[in-house]
Amino acid sequence: MSLSPLLSVTPELRRLVSPMRRFASVNAWIVGPKGRQIVVDTGMCGTETKHIWRRAEESGALGGVEAIVVTHMHRDHAGQVRHLQRQFGAKLLMSAREHADALAASIVTPDENRSRLRDFLLALGMDDEDAGASVPIDYSMLAPFPADVLALEDDECLSLAGRRWRVLLGGGHSAAAVCLMAEDESLFFSGDQVLAGSGAHIAVWPGAPEADPLADYFAFLDRLASLPEQMLVLPGHGLPFSGLAAHARSLRGQHEDRLAKLGKAMSGAMTCVEMAPLVFSERAMRRFAELIPAMTLSLANHLWYRGALRRHRSDNGLYLFEKAL
Ligand SMILES: [Zn+2]
Repeated sequence: MSLSPLLSVTPELRRLVSPMRRFASVNAWIVGPKGRQIVVDTGMCGTETKHIWRRAEESGALGGVEAIVVTHMHRDHAGQVRHLQRQFGAKLLMSAREHADALAASIVTPDENRSRLRDFLLALGMDDEDAGASVPIDYSMLAPFPADVLALEDDECLSLAGRRWRVLLGGGHSAAAVCLMAEDESLFFSGDQVLAGSGAHIAVWPGAPEADPLADYFAFLDRLASLPEQMLVLPGHGLPFSGLAAHARSLRGQHEDRLAKLGKAMSGAMTCVEMAPLVFSERAMRRFAELIPAMTLSLANHLWYRGALRRHRSDNGLYLFEKAL
């Protein structure tokens, strides 16, 4: 018997699980009483997830959606926005930055996307063959992404689904992801900013190779570390969990360990492809595959901003890092 994609956490909180890749799934959440519901995240693009939403509606669990909150622009979270808006005429709530990034990514052509990724991976030290074979994340399937948005601001309070919420914006996994915290301190929708285990990947993307997303992520984790522990965390992937503040401290610790390990193991001028095995396990290298050089760049850039590494671009366009004297 297959597991139902719709799981009740409480009568007014349901977790809708939809597929994204062969072994992974993504959460969307249906919150509030019917007629005044909000949806937090929407699942992946494509007909399979669309059918899951249809079935949720037919089962009576979904109806009268007043708002669609998208935590961040990644297509496994923003994939069904258009469909749900059409279905319910609901307003879209995102941060202005995530909305702008979704719009921009949706109009990049697959050819442009492929050549941008190839050039980026070559600069990180990947060989021609592997860089050429790398498949970029295709956002064109989000187009036309809804142009109208109600832009959420950091620390804003709002009423949705019959409750009061506080908005927290944070960078790291994406530019300005939305987390929603119930003002009664019972629930915390974390998107991908906080996942169980080792958390979400933090990577530097082709358009901004000098970015330091880890600095943004650390600032965000430090804010979480002072929030109430008793909240139920409702993440973008995996099961709900509690212990937010302690987990935020642990995630920061895991990244700090990796930074220390990399800083210590560096020898001579190295590319990100050369640095990756110094810091990531074989299992992580297999799991994140093409993302690994970009994840390594996020570590290297952070050490560069901290002054622990020097960085320069070689004559043939490689980003090279070495220990600062
Ligand atoms: Zn994500």
